[in-house]
Amino acid sequence: MRLLVVEDEPDLLHTIATALREEGYAVDTAEDGEEGLFKARECDYDAVVLDVMLPVMNGFEVVKKLRESKKTPVLMLTARGRINDRITGLDAGADDYLPKPFDLNELFARLRALIRRSAGDASNIIQIKDVVIDVAARTVKQKGGLVELTAREYSLLEHLALRRGKLVTRTELYDHLFDENETSLSNLLDVHVSNVRKKLGHEFITTRRGHGYCIEA
Ligand code: CA
Repeated sequence: MRLLVVEDEPDLLHTIATALREEGYAVDTAEDGEEGLFKARECDYDAVVLDVMLPVMNGFEVVKKLRESKKTPVLMLTARGRINDRITGLDAGADDYLPKPFDLNELFARLRALIRRSAGDASNIIQIKDVVIDVAARTVKQKGGLVELTAREYSLLEHLALRRGKLVTRTELYDHLFDENETSLSNLLDVHVSNVRKKLGHEFITTRRGHGYCIEA
């Protein structure tokens, strides 16, 4: 899962980006509305966290312009108590909002819900053969026993599982698992796939040679 965080307060941007990386997301950042819009148009993010009050172009304008070409889920950070901000944001095309100051755990939960909804999955639980993935708790069980995955291995598994039955190209996986500063580490994808297979069984992820990977539905 790859996210974009657009926030002009450096401390808050750093706090949010660091916390999301610790949760296993690849995170890109932007410090004004114009840069945020540029990145959101360039890359297919799983979700965008977008502050309302931004230099150059405010968050409302960003989401409005983004909606001309993309459906990327957008969570807006609004000022507490400004009900008009929430209405304006939702009308402009935002999918959800979170008033500042907020609890990071609430931000995580709302992002998980947004990403799940955009993938067309209303449930927190994905079951594939004997593997059960709880996307709210971010846990994986096989035959009832907990499987230990690293944050990146989990992200890979979740991305494929949410698109089960469909081929996911290597390019798409790179775009969603690694952020703008890590894309040169090109051989890591195979290592993560190999590690997930060691833990869940080699057949669990199918390789479509030259094209990508798939978890059969
Ligand atoms: Ca701001």
